[in-house]
Amino acid sequence: MDAEARKKAFRAKLAQKSDKRIDSPLVRYNEFDQPVCRVCNVILKSESLWPAHQASRKHHEVMAPLSYFMEENAAYAFTCTLLQMAC
Ligand SMILES: [Zn+2]
Repeated sequence: MDAEARKKAFRAKLAQKSDKRIDSPLVRYNEFDQPVCRVCNVILKSESLWPAHQASRKHHEVMAPLSYFMEENAAYAFTCTLLQMAC
């Protein structure tokens, strides 16, 4: 195992230990194991920032036109997912 791979594995282990990963369709993880908002394409420095980011005005501004262009049903489901409500 080279140094880079070891570092990566260590970081992944650390992330698993300290923070729980965000279980949201709006979040993906990049190659550095950082959570990224799919909507805004913003890297969140920590999982704990996700609720604040989700509630932020910037995030909603990006979300609004996005759901507008989606099919009605898809937009509805998407909003429900975002607000973590049952449809
Ligand atoms: Zn966002």
